[in-house]
Amino acid sequence: MSDYRLNTKCVQGGYTPGNGEPRQIPIVQSTTFKYNTSEDMGKLFDLEASGYFYTRLQNPTNDYVAAKIAELEGGTAAMLTSSGQAANFFALFNICENGDHIVASSSIYGGTFNLIDVTMRKMGIDVTFVSPDATEEELNAAFQDNTKAMFGETIANPALTVLDIELFAKVAHAHGVPLIVDNTFPTPVHCRPIEWGADIVTHSTTKYMDGHGAAVGGAIVDSGNFDWMAHADKFPGLCTPDESYHGITYAKKFGKEGAFITKATAQLMRDFGSIQSPQNAFYLNLGLESLHVRMARHAENGQAVAEFLTTCPQVEKVTYSGLPTDKYYARAQKYLPNGGCGVVSFELKGGRAAAEKFMKNLKLAAIETHVADARTCCLNPATSTHRQMSDEQLAAAGIPAGLIRLSCGLEDAQDLIDDVKQALAAI
Ligand SMILES: *Cc1c(COP(=O)(O)O)cnc(C)c1O
Repeated sequence: MSDYRLNTKCVQGGYTPGNGEPRQIPIVQSTTFKYNTSEDMGKLFDLEASGYFYTRLQNPTNDYVAAKIAELEGGTAAMLTSSGQAANFFALFNICENGDHIVASSSIYGGTFNLIDVTMRKMGIDVTFVSPDATEEELNAAFQDNTKAMFGETIANPALTVLDIELFAKVAHAHGVPLIVDNTFPTPVHCRPIEWGADIVTHSTTKYMDGHGAAVGGAIVDSGNFDWMAHADKFPGLCTPDESYHGITYAKKFGKEGAFITKATAQLMRDFGSIQSPQNAFYLNLGLESLHVRMARHAENGQAVAEFLTTCPQVEKVTYSGLPTDKYYARAQKYLPNGGCGVVSFELKGGRAAAEKFMKNLKLAAIETHVADARTCCLNPATSTHRQMSDEQLAAAGIPAGLIRLSCGLEDAQDLIDDVKQALAAI
């Protein structure tokens, strides 16, 4: 599929049936796989042969879908996880351990912020948060000798800041560590971070990739570009023998192209078991088949609603990187030339109270803890997804209390505008 364009890869990537085989990706609804001899199975356990033995680690349905996502992102290997949270945790924990340190953009999803700032700290992994607008000098200053990864989101949920991927990658590489980018919001249809220097790309496939609010899931893609052995002292997990896996050295045996995903599968899936169910992987693939068509419409609707909101007197500020007045417009023109996503955020005059009234009066847009769905939905982050964060942390993440996150679905743009208009009038 590598010679085809992205639109074709969305439809047909990852799985090519042989003569007489199912046209649609088969759902391999089996926990286990049968072998003729113990020797055959032993080779799988030793990672001498590739194949399946237990669905907690790998399943063929998942691998077809992961292969499609790898093709879309331009990576060499990928895996599916049970959720976006699991994807980001695995991507970081695959190379960080007790005593290590991460540099992360402060403008990230609340769940990921909590994962890194609270839960991973409890595991002895420290973090320094940096502004997505930090200068090269400021980014450099955040690094320590024990820093093992840099992390950011292409378009941050919900702040909608746009990451300067090229700059973050440059700084990460100057310190001998990979850049991990969560590309959930633009999807590879609108941005491919690997082309700008990112080493690992993660997704909450729960969002646009599935796109129909049907299945929670995540994905990790390896660019195959990061040279682990060149920084062997920093990454002992990849560059020294794994005694829990028969003394295999992942970076030597599987090279730059395969080491990261093989280790995450062999160690983290084995020990944490956060695999996506094959049934959900099948749903995810249905979403991916139309991702290129849907993303164009989501971005078109987002743009139309954002432009309308700028004309409304009840609105203090509209944040959407497709607006020429947006702080991130220039960066979006560079990284997201064909549009970003359907998520628009805006601050109402009148803060929390106005936000509550507005949301109550919406007819088409539903109040949901979800975004990036075919059906328009909205949320007030300060009272829902981000309620664990203090006012200071909210401010650092660029989320005022009266902020509304409106996820424009695939409905008619004029109907969405009319709905927003009547709800604003009711404030
Ligand atoms: C939703 C989301 C996550 C978490 O994904 P889940 O599938 O809900 O676990 C991570 N990153 C971003 C950018 C998200 O929007």
